[in-house]
Amino acid sequence: MNRVLLKSAGFYGKKGVKAVLVEQGKITALFTPTDPMPGDCQVLDLGNWWVYPGFVDTHTHSFEGGLYSGGVDLTNAGDISEILEKIKAGTEGLSKGENLFVWRFDENRIKERRFPTIAELDSVSSEHNILLRRIDGHSVLLNSRARERVSGLFSREEVLRGKDNDIAMHWFHGSCSEETILRAYHKSAEIGLKGGFSGLHTMIGDADCSNTHYALIRDRLDEFKVDYKLYPQSFNIDSSLELGADRIGGCILADGSIGSHTAALSQPYQGSDSCGNLYHDDQFWLRFVERAQFHNLNVAVHCIGDKAIRQINNAYLNAKGQSGKCFRHQLIHCELCPDDLIEEIAASGAAAVMQPAFDRYWGGEDDLYDNELGRSRMLQMNRFRSLASKGIRLCFGSDWYITELDAIKGIHSAVNHKNPAERIIVNEAIDAYTINAAWLAGTDELRGSIDKGKYADFTVLNRELREGFEIGDIKVVKVIKTGDIVYDGDAVQT
Ligand SMILES: [Zn+2]
Ligand SMILES: [Zn+2]
Repeated sequence: MNRVLLKSAGFYGKKGVKAVLVEQGKITALFTPTDPMPGDCQVLDLGNWWVYPGFVDTHTHSFEGGLYSGGVDLTNAGDISEILEKIKAGTEGLSKGENLFVWRFDENRIKERRFPTIAELDSVSSEHNILLRRIDGHSVLLNSRARERVSGLFSREEVLRGKDNDIAMHWFHGSCSEETILRAYHKSAEIGLKGGFSGLHTMIGDADCSNTHYALIRDRLDEFKVDYKLYPQSFNIDSSLELGADRIGGCILADGSIGSHTAALSQPYQGSDSCGNLYHDDQFWLRFVERAQFHNLNVAVHCIGDKAIRQINNAYLNAKGQSGKCFRHQLIHCELCPDDLIEEIAASGAAAVMQPAFDRYWGGEDDLYDNELGRSRMLQMNRFRSLASKGIRLCFGSDWYITELDAIKGIHSAVNHKNPAERIIVNEAIDAYTINAAWLAGTDELRGSIDKGKYADFTVLNRELREGFEIGDIKVVKVIKTGDIVYDGDAVQT
């Protein structure tokens, strides 16, 4: 679209505006009904639909999500026999020796409340390599055939955790061809568009000091329908600089997850002596952040437990180098935050890159957080309201493949937080997916709101997102990226 007048019922954040002019991919003028409209242009009339700045999911693992989408999804499995049946069906049509990825397994959601055994997986197939991964990505079970192929495992345990989980996944991801890798990113882009996103931040690499396919994607960014922002998910600063990155990290781990009891807590898990563990010491992170800052790189680190969040935030607070520069560092997940820690985060200026769907899955009474952490800490999880009230920038993401790539569900989860004290209003949730996401990427001058001079990235919904909206009432009808319609939904205009 070269010169198009986009008309609609409303534009987010622009009261009274009923049309915008898009030229060469940018917004060049905004019009209220009383303004004279340009006559010499194409008109795209969106009727009663509402236009938002293009939503951006600021934390995805799009390679894995795209890759796993072709595997077996256990979201609705009720017990082990059903799981085995689903896996059996998944192996049909595969040739001998092919890998089958089974994902979104959650032992707390099935009758037996345990992982299957290796013997059970073997009973389904000894001809394929089966990987069954826990929903949080922090543990994995392999059948015997796959396990024989993975070398260097530390533990004899059936379920692989920590380093062994990384080794197993590294083997699996390492066996993908370039074609498979590219297909996975295109698949995630497609799923992202349906979920209402014009942009996805994606972590690349496996936290094992490899930037495997960063260059592959970087050199093809124009080929993707969504605007990918790439993160070299690595500790290797030199290699990130060579790749031309302006940020480093992602789910490089300060700790693990609540479900796997590896998130680092200041007090033990409920009914246990364990406090989880910090994967590195304070000095390690301080040195890492200082080196990154010296090279002008923003840093992103996975931290879930209060002890891990404090450790990373302290590194951001205390790191020397490039004083005066405003870094856009990230506390990814940033889940368990007592009040004093929130004050410390406000002081460091780091952004909280959070996943509203985590509360939907695991928040509330008698669910994972309550059971593993106890009631008072459950109420300190995913504190959107408290963080935002202290001026901390909230950026939202799905952690896709962990949860769905779905902006509307994300916004709905944030405004319907199971702890009413931590609910935010609809516009705050929208900002977390738009202007705050643009700030995080360093592109807030060019994206993230509907303003003259900014790129024409839009998410078009069938109606306005208002307080009290229901998920089923809202449909993504179009996604527009730099003036081009990249997704055309099938919603009926109302
Ligand atoms: Zn992640
Ligand atoms: Zn993570």
